[in-house]
Amino acid sequence: MKKPRAPHRTKSPRIVQELSRLAAGLAASGSRIEDAFWESRLAAKIHAQLRTGDDQNLEAVLDQLYDADPEGYSEFIYAIEAAIECSILTRGDRTYDVLMFAVPVLTWSRFSIPSGPVAETVIENLRTQLQMHVLAANGQFVLADCLFSPDQLPRGYHLTHELANKLWTAAVAGERDLHINPRQLAETGRFLSDTRYLLGAIAVPQGKPMFRWQQPEAASASSPASRFSKEEILHAWQKHGAEALRPLFQGCAFELLMPDGFFSAWRMADRLARPYSMHATVDFLHTTLSISPDMLRAVIAPFYDQWLEEYRIGFTLKDRDDVLYGIVWALVGDEDENSDIISQIESTLRECGVAHTLLLQNRFLLEYCEECGAPLFPNPGGEVVHAEFPEEGEVAPIHLH
Ligand SMILES: [Zn+2]
Repeated sequence: MKKPRAPHRTKSPRIVQELSRLAAGLAASGSRIEDAFWESRLAAKIHAQLRTGDDQNLEAVLDQLYDADPEGYSEFIYAIEAAIECSILTRGDRTYDVLMFAVPVLTWSRFSIPSGPVAETVIENLRTQLQMHVLAANGQFVLADCLFSPDQLPRGYHLTHELANKLWTAAVAGERDLHINPRQLAETGRFLSDTRYLLGAIAVPQGKPMFRWQQPEAASASSPASRFSKEEILHAWQKHGAEALRPLFQGCAFELLMPDGFFSAWRMADRLARPYSMHATVDFLHTTLSISPDMLRAVIAPFYDQWLEEYRIGFTLKDRDDVLYGIVWALVGDEDENSDIISQIESTLRECGVAHTLLLQNRFLLEYCEECGAPLFPNPGGEVVHAEFPEEGEVAPIHLH
């Protein structure tokens, strides 16, 4: 897992110490029953922190564990994520399991990618498709009426938890959608390729399945095919969900990913957005400049802050040095410098038809353009430069993640 970038001042050393102790205890536990002991104590302490409306202590624990106890660090991240995205709620005499889920969409466009409020008819169509193809029968669920860009997702742990709480409450109350005030949304950066998220919550009677892939084998002859593999479910969702979303994504290519628990869906989207944006870039250069993939060269280099943070890939014509375009391939989840990311990048380039690649071994520092903030990309000479799209002055500054 990656270390959070900015170290925060500790608010309460005593609380940080106690949280670290519980996470380390969980990581070293020797049995399921001991796991449960540590987990329940850790969850109670994390909830208390989320209620303070401040992430400082949680972040201080992550900082401390990252260096001292990598396994404790992973356990602590999972415990925070669980406390944020799922819970058990009681309404009247009924008790529900509740989960905030995300529906990620990978998309690219030469024009603009939509974000913000979503029309009621689209939400209704999406609800129908989610109910038919993804969610278990008999669950109650709610969707936020908003298409979130990554900049518009809640920042930090307690704000994410606050949104989850609103969604859970609405789902348990049997609401169909949750209104998001568009004025409270951050501005969205403009990129050629990006991710969008629909967010919602599902509530089921305690212990019942939430997703179709959790449902038991068909019990009766009248519904012989009520259980599907995850792959079949994804396939049906991509087909039918895309029909429901098409009105939103005019002028865009887009691909739906599997709806899942918020953090898991988010990580999945971060992972898959990398090859997706590579394909988008190569398509874009082909369609706008008539540069076919075999005329391109990709220059790949590792970029460091304190640790390896990302690879950057500069695209040039194969006999020229100017970088036409660049993309960032960031590390996700528990990837680090020991992960074999270069072969993923190279095989994606091959899939895109880019045969000429150059791998630079130097350690580059994360550098950005001082004027527009765009990342700088490696050129074949081993320097970092600004990507310069050929039609100067005509093309708006679009930079890929
Ligand atoms: Zn610039």
